[in-house]
Amino acid sequence: MTFRLFTSLGNEVRTFSPVKEGEVRMYVCGVTPYDVTHLGHAFSYVQFDTLRRYLGWIGYRVRYVQNVTDIDDDMIMVSRRQGGRPIAEIRDENDAILRADLDRLNVLRPTVYPYATDHIPEIIETTQRLIERGHAYVVEGDVFFDVSTFPRYGRLNGMSLEELGKRENPESKRAHKKRNHLDFLLWQQVDPGDPSWDSPWGPGRPGWSIECTAMAVKHLGTQIDIHGGGSDLKYPHHENEIAQAECAYGVEPFCGWWVHNGMLQLDGVKMSKSLGNLVLARDLMRTYEPDHLRLYLLSHHIRADANYTAGAIDALADRYGRLRAAAQRASDGPGAGSAPMLQDARERLDDDFDVPGALDAADRAAARVLAGTGNEDEADRLRQTLAVLGFAFAGARGPANGDFSP
Ligand code: ZN
Repeated sequence: MTFRLFTSLGNEVRTFSPVKEGEVRMYVCGVTPYDVTHLGHAFSYVQFDTLRRYLGWIGYRVRYVQNVTDIDDDMIMVSRRQGGRPIAEIRDENDAILRADLDRLNVLRPTVYPYATDHIPEIIETTQRLIERGHAYVVEGDVFFDVSTFPRYGRLNGMSLEELGKRENPESKRAHKKRNHLDFLLWQQVDPGDPSWDSPWGPGRPGWSIECTAMAVKHLGTQIDIHGGGSDLKYPHHENEIAQAECAYGVEPFCGWWVHNGMLQLDGVKMSKSLGNLVLARDLMRTYEPDHLRLYLLSHHIRADANYTAGAIDALADRYGRLRAAAQRASDGPGAGSAPMLQDARERLDDDFDVPGALDAADRAAARVLAGTGNEDEADRLRQTLAVLGFAFAGARGPANGDFSP
């Protein structure tokens, strides 16, 4: 069977085949830990965890890298607000909370979990390469990527340079110094007192997107198979990442499959701290078992925008109970660990990673198991399917079952 997966680059479903046979190099944009993370983050990381698990199940060795953006405008703002509190302290505090939440949700630990501030030499080296190759320019201590040197810029978003140029550019810092409207910072001067590092262009700090390129290349190589992140990162962050990697290293494509998760809203409104409408995974897990929350999150397709409403998790209580009860009927022998998945669930997952479809198949199997009308190995197959989807109650490996290895 072949696994087919949608990529945002070209907006198409393509048969999955990694650069190196048998191995998947996967990079997922991590958080900027300046504040507490919400259910939207849990949605993203549970989805990518499940994709990673499925790739492992179909036989790939998966190297999964997820970064921590521990230097940027928001980190600096929070540090200032807290009276100059060290950024590393703010990072460690918020990261520990996120990590604890994801552990309870049985999200496997990343193979590598790099901090941007540990990669300043790699960021400087990548920036240097871009200058040497004529893709970047220096203006009084700031370094900009020259978008006009990369005609493919905009392709991930299905837009031409001209069309993108008409849009507002979120990378508007130091606009007066830029050659073109779409150019973005690779390295920037800092305000007095802010964290800075020495560089060939004077003291400063990285731009936003260059760190992901530097970390992906360092830990996965110049060509990777899957790059994940929220759909809100498609422009400009991921467009910038492509431009940086392909220009610095002369590769195309930098990444084979761009996978963007949908956004989670609350009652139709984007969750945000400023609106005060945050729902936290941690709070929900006071009421619901983590696997019950996982079921809620996975009942949405990875690319679908989801709308959380009060009662949405309660509405899955019966379904959750049935899946658990049916999985418990699996034999305790070796069959449970080595059983195949349910065939129709496998087909759904092979077809563009249709997790909700696979869960529907699991529901049907659970009904048969509980009614006593299923095939002999149906409970084993059901349990295996739920384990591949990461449910701790089905025996899935992971932090919730005491396994903290990547
Ligand atoms: Zn990123």
